[in-house]
Amino acid sequence: MKVAIIGGGLAGCALAWTLRRMGQEPVLYEAGPELANGASGNASALYNPRFSALRGPDADFYAAAYSLALRSFKILNDIDWRPTGVLHLIDTEKKEERLHKTVTNWNWTPAHMRLVSSDEASRIAGIGLQYGALYLPDGGSVAPKKLCAAYTRNIDCRLNTSVENLEDIDADVIVLACGPAVLSFVPSLPIIPVRGQITQVKATQLSADIKCGICYDGYFMPAKNGVHTLGATFQPDLNHSNIIKQDDQENIQKLAEAIPGLEAGLEVVEHRASIRATSRNRFPIIGRAPGQDTVYISAAHGSYGVLSSLMGAHLLADMIMDRPRCLPADVITALSPQRFKKRT
Ligand SMILES: Cc1cc2nc3c(=O)[nH]c(=O)nc-3n(C[C@H](O)[C@H](O)[C@H](O)COP(=O)(O)OP(=O)(O)OC[C@H]3O[C@@H](n4cnc5c(N)ncnc54)[C@H](O)[C@@H]3O)c2cc1C
Repeated sequence: MKVAIIGGGLAGCALAWTLRRMGQEPVLYEAGPELANGASGNASALYNPRFSALRGPDADFYAAAYSLALRSFKILNDIDWRPTGVLHLIDTEKKEERLHKTVTNWNWTPAHMRLVSSDEASRIAGIGLQYGALYLPDGGSVAPKKLCAAYTRNIDCRLNTSVENLEDIDADVIVLACGPAVLSFVPSLPIIPVRGQITQVKATQLSADIKCGICYDGYFMPAKNGVHTLGATFQPDLNHSNIIKQDDQENIQKLAEAIPGLEAGLEVVEHRASIRATSRNRFPIIGRAPGQDTVYISAAHGSYGVLSSLMGAHLLADMIMDRPRCLPADVITALSPQRFKKRT
């Protein structure tokens, strides 16, 4: 079967890897001069499930994705996988209620998810923290750009090839994995572009000893080669990837509010802005395109694309090759591009 994948970010590359492991030889088309040209080009990203209070289709999707990612990262080389553990600070009343329910309703063993007091969180992190946290001992970070490269070793990637018209592509099946540009092929989908900027700062004596990832209204990653990554702004009203200096201050300010004092002396050394795509209900759009038999979509991965792109790739590979589905029917329905069809 000839499968063409449009887009060389996490969604397209993860699908190419998954199909290849199932014996297919997909061709990937990327508009830019290199892979990970868009949102997937960051040097570092956390892999986190999106927590919800209840265990419904969205929780089932992210839980399965997290487990799949941990298995997959073990067999992929040179992806800067750092399973340092991640603390999700309980720094608002809303989070207090939601994350307590998450722990109860997701029902993972404490070895993989547990609530910790501020004392224990401080011990885990290696710095004094004023809040308790939800702790994911297997959580951590990975380099999305390197992940794209690892996924596509031995894949036929056609760079500098912007696909404008699907009829120009010689393939039995086409998968649209081109981020916000999916809209140019299927304008009816409620895909929302959201600008974001990450900031990289030089470690200080205090910050250099922090041992795990920390999430609050932003996120902080332990130092790698003396540099921390702080993320990320979330701007649905902006649609450009120029650097905004004020965004670096915003990322540092959020850190200062969560862990006062840690911001002192942090010097910005790098930053990167790009556009992620999200959907109206913030859940990815994965499945067959509306009104099409041979066109599929993997898009709207939002702020959790490391996990959702890989899980989405497995689901699409099952659909394309007509294998038993790796996810239950209610999750597949919740992800489906058909879910936005107006009811008559
Ligand atoms: C600032 C920021 C921080 C983030 N942090 C995290 C994080 O810590 N953890 C996490 O899990 N997620 C994070 N995300 C989200 C994650 O990066 C995205 O969800 C993910 O990268 C989306 O991947 P994608 O392949 O769908 O899109 P993209 O990476 O945007 O890839 C789409 C690709 O398609 C190509 N393309 C477009 N049009 C065409 C065409 N016509 N023909 C051919 N190619 C085309 C583009 O050039 C691009 O390379 C972050 C996002 C941002 C912006």
